Amino acid sequence: MKSRTEQLHTIERENDILRATLARYASRDCDWSSEDEATCECIACTATRTLKSLDDWRFQASFPERLVNGLHPREAAHVAAFRKYMTGGDADERLAGILGWTEGSGFMKQIHDWPSARDWYVAVAVVQWLATNVGMGVLEAAGWKYTRFDEDRRQVDAILPQELP
Ligand SMILES: [Zn+2]
Repeated sequence: MKSRTEQLHTIERENDILRATLARYASRDCDWSSEDEATCECIACTATRTLKSLDDWRFQASFPERLVNGLHPREAAHVAAFRKYMTGGDADERLAGILGWTEGSGFMKQIHDWPSARDWYVAVAVVQWLATNVGMGVLEAAGWKYTRFDEDRRQVDAILPQELP
């Protein structure tokens, strides 16, 4: 029986194969020259959408509901900015670089082909946590100053029910 680590490695390898296959289809032009790739059901558009959703798991962190409920705008902004940067290239390669696992780094590269699902979970959880009140305390202790309190308050006020008289 495979160990948990071996099972995770198998899933990650299969995920890589699936990703590479989808990428080949996604690189094609739309089969039907559709103007709406979001709903087109041709294989190229479907592969493009599926490829994007495959990346979603990396950015769920530990409290994913806080990224979408509108009540934690700092956390959502932190993770969105991190996600934008990481998906501006090969996300796994970028995280590998952050973790110091580059082609030339020898030993660590040999024992870790790619960042694992756990690596992504920890990375995104820390990025999100840095935007919490406690995390902001750490950033401010290091000299960072948050400047979007008013915008955040307006966003949250627009969602929360009005106070009763
Ligand atoms: Zn299409």
